[in-house]
Amino acid sequence: MRLCRFDNDRLGIVEGEHVLDVTVALDVIPPSNYPLPTHDLLIANLEQVCARASQLAPGAERKPISQVKLLSPVANPGKLVAAPVNYLKHLEEARADSGIHHNSQIIEIQRIGLFLKATSSLIGPGEPVALRHLDRRNDHEIELAIVIGKSGTRIQKDQAWNYIAAYTIGLDMTVRGPEERSLRKSVDSFSVLGPWLVTADEIDDATSLDFELSVNGETRQKANTRDLVLGIPELIEYASSFYRLHPGDVIYTGTPEGVGPVQPGDVITAEFEKIGRMEVSVTSA
Ligand code: MN
Repeated sequence: MRLCRFDNDRLGIVEGEHVLDVTVALDVIPPSNYPLPTHDLLIANLEQVCARASQLAPGAERKPISQVKLLSPVANPGKLVAAPVNYLKHLEEARADSGIHHNSQIIEIQRIGLFLKATSSLIGPGEPVALRHLDRRNDHEIELAIVIGKSGTRIQKDQAWNYIAAYTIGLDMTVRGPEERSLRKSVDSFSVLGPWLVTADEIDDATSLDFELSVNGETRQKANTRDLVLGIPELIEYASSFYRLHPGDVIYTGTPEGVGPVQPGDVITAEFEKIGRMEVSVTSA
């Protein structure tokens, strides 16, 4: 199933070029009291929500996707985990380009591990990426984003696929500079997810997905997930060796070569095989 969030926190099933409004399906989520759980309530109840959404679909109001504002398909992830330099050709370009490395040593992912992006940086494709440091280089990074479906810690890689609820496209926007990654990649609006969730049952093999990013129609990044250095099960095993993963946690799996700057006024188009395509505009804040 393809599930989106749109307009004023409405829930939709995506069918072709249309969104079916199945917001009433959110009623199956049990009520919570303060303090709220540290996971995403929709993802924690995804099976029940999808079952109810399917029942509602035949009678649902339909809208063209082009006429709705798409929000991040995960509203309240507990954490955004991200993989640095997880494609070899991106490691090579980062080491060769001082505009990327800023005299910091670019260390392989096996040694530097993962980092976290602030959840407050999360937006959907219907909202613009708003650049703050216009005197610095602000780069696009397209990545496969994995949405964790159930709680788990010290997950072995041969069990890892069972923990994936859905896939979506991630943009790990980055202001280049000498500071820690977590700071530079947590600017408000610098974590994009969209255009919707594709539940794991719809993607039989996420280890060979073509994807592409263009800016104003010019292709910048074009790669396939088969070239990941740490693969999807390895990333889940590694991340969960440090912390428990919860429903709705997102793993940005890393970007391939071709990262480059964007400016206010640009339009980023990101497309992933078996997931979809989204356009994200760039502005200044
Ligand atoms: Mn990245």
